[in-house]
Amino acid sequence: MANWNLSFDYASVFFLLLILVWYLNEKMVPLRSHRAFLVLLINDLLSATLEIVATWTLRNIEVVGYNGAFFTLTLSNLAVNITCVTFTFYILQLAHIDVLKNKIQHSLFIAAIAIEVIVLAVNYFTHWAFTLEDGVYRVSYASLILYAVDAVMFMICIVTIIRFRKNFQFLRPAPLLFTMVFCVIMATLQLTAYVPMLHLMITSVCLTLFHYQQNAGTVTDMVTKQFNRRFLREYLFSRFSDGKPFGVVAVAMDDFKFINRTYGAETGDSLLYQVGEYLGKIRSHGIVFRLGSDQFYLVVDRQISQLSFVAEEIRARFHEPWNTQTGNSIMMSASLCYIECPKDADSYDSMIDTLDYSVSFAKKNKKGGIIYVGDLDLSKLRQEKAIEKAVKLAIDRDTLQVYYQPIFSVEQGVYNSAEALVRLQDETLGWISPEDFIPIAEKNGMIVEMGEMILAKVCRFIRDFHLSDTTIQYIEVNISPIQLRQPGFAGRFLQILGDYSVRPEQINIEITEMTAVNSSVIVQQNIRELVEAGITFSLDDYGSGNANIDYINHMPFKLIKIDKYIIWDSFKSQKAGITLSYTIGMLNALELCIVAEGVETEEMREHLAKVGCHYLQGWYYSKAVPEQEFIQLVAAQ
Ligand code: C2E
Ligand code: CA
Ligand code: CA
Repeated sequence: MANWNLSFDYASVFFLLLILVWYLNEKMVPLRSHRAFLVLLINDLLSATLEIVATWTLRNIEVVGYNGAFFTLTLSNLAVNITCVTFTFYILQLAHIDVLKNKIQHSLFIAAIAIEVIVLAVNYFTHWAFTLEDGVYRVSYASLILYAVDAVMFMICIVTIIRFRKNFQFLRPAPLLFTMVFCVIMATLQLTAYVPMLHLMITSVCLTLFHYQQNAGTVTDMVTKQFNRRFLREYLFSRFSDGKPFGVVAVAMDDFKFINRTYGAETGDSLLYQVGEYLGKIRSHGIVFRLGSDQFYLVVDRQISQLSFVAEEIRARFHEPWNTQTGNSIMMSASLCYIECPKDADSYDSMIDTLDYSVSFAKKNKKGGIIYVGDLDLSKLRQEKAIEKAVKLAIDRDTLQVYYQPIFSVEQGVYNSAEALVRLQDETLGWISPEDFIPIAEKNGMIVEMGEMILAKVCRFIRDFHLSDTTIQYIEVNISPIQLRQPGFAGRFLQILGDYSVRPEQINIEITEMTAVNSSVIVQQNIRELVEAGITFSLDDYGSGNANIDYINHMPFKLIKIDKYIIWDSFKSQKAGITLSYTIGMLNALELCIVAEGVETEEMREHLAKVGCHYLQGWYYSKAVPEQEFIQLVAAQ
């Protein structure tokens, strides 16, 4: 050991000091694993330093004497073995296992440390762990006990990482396992070939951990310097597993877009910074998170009886002005909602859902006010969640059905097309209307997968039933704006058509006015690609939104479908009737084909055909029906 090259240890000390400085310079992360990491860092730093000191004393044994050298060697051995214990402790904290709460685990750690301390302390008399004769350091048999303790710790780490891998929020278990195995190789190398590389390995593990897991920069928001949404999940995971009650106050800024637009984004950012800073300093000493652009969550160790006071205190602050960088004063408003966990929500997801729902309710109905989520009727939210589950299940089990509603061509006197309408029947909820589940699928993004499944079913129908041999020239497929906003949507759409050998003329896409209004670059790109491939488009629900003739002029629509409510209104009021006939006249002048939806009676059919609608669709002809029934309907014409 006396002739060891200590370069690796010097490098370790240097890097460990660097990590320590970085760590201390960052915001304190309120997690037990974060504190355990500091213990691990200090332990490793001490251990590497002691290895240098011990090697030095061995080299200068004439100066420090036998006892001095023996003492530093004992300390160095102890520190390196304890690193194994602190590392294991850290891994358990990362997996959100509270060692101090579990008596068996707690005793195991105390026993491990006690064994290491006793074996090394009595070694001065027994010389069982190592000997120091004539200035030569030699490992003895009792060291095996220390290695056994290290091996047990190592096994605990591996089992924890594998068994509780879901509890590791950011760090993927694979690199962790890899570096640990590397550490074992280095430890063996150090013991057999006397190359002191173990500390450098542990240091590199610490560096990896700091980079991925302990770096507060990755869990804080750049603008407000408060914790971000990513960290909220990890933090609340530990709070929920603790089981102790805690409160969350959501602070949702009202009309913040207006402030950004009026005063500029820089002032907006500075105001958000001030709000975050204020929330961090209020009496309840909560932890502040910034969610989304203009929302904060304050997590406090308070129960329901005190939460309203916290919310009141925050609201009072919003009665005072805030300062801009230019010295102006601005009044801002925030809607507040609070929740007690686990009473009102017992998991992260249900808490987020409940607070999200309450915040949007507050913004609509009680702007600037305070709402306790327990006072709200959450049945709508629950219903929404139940529908969401049903949709997920239907997608997984492929039980969504597509029905077809015929569209009658006035000119040809036959059904020339049909609209594909999705149907969902759930075991517990029964039939669910697309009006209810499509918006939910749009909100959580499931519409993308669902839309592709529907299209595939339509294409299979066209192919298997040889629709091209009937009067049905094409099928109208409803496409949600969310689908059109997906990059690469057009490519996937055409791919599905290709898979079933369906020609582009056999499909017509219906999009709503909203899609046309919100068209982004990606939407335009998707539409262009589809049009170039030969797909035609219909504008659905025309007249229900802010009808803007500009969109009709700039989008390549073949058909305009007039909203059924507009049609119905035209039969109820004279004014609406006049509006409709002028609308039809205008669309005809633009040489666009018109589809009237919601045709329910003979009177409607006759009138709409007379005033210039080219196609008619509605219950007068047929409701949307299953494939077989639709084929019979077409054949019976
Ligand atoms: P939409 O595209 O406006 O579809 C027309 C709706 O009006 C359909 O309701 C249809 O059954 C109904 N309807 C047709 N004729 C009549 C009538 O004479 N009287 C009455 N009272 N209603 C009539 P449905 O099937 O409940 O669909 C509702 C909405 O759900 C659709 O409105 C569409 O926005 C959406 N949707 C349905 N299927 C799909 C789909 O496959 N994909 C997407 N993205 N949305 C879909
Ligand atoms: Ca439609
Ligand atoms: Ca429609």
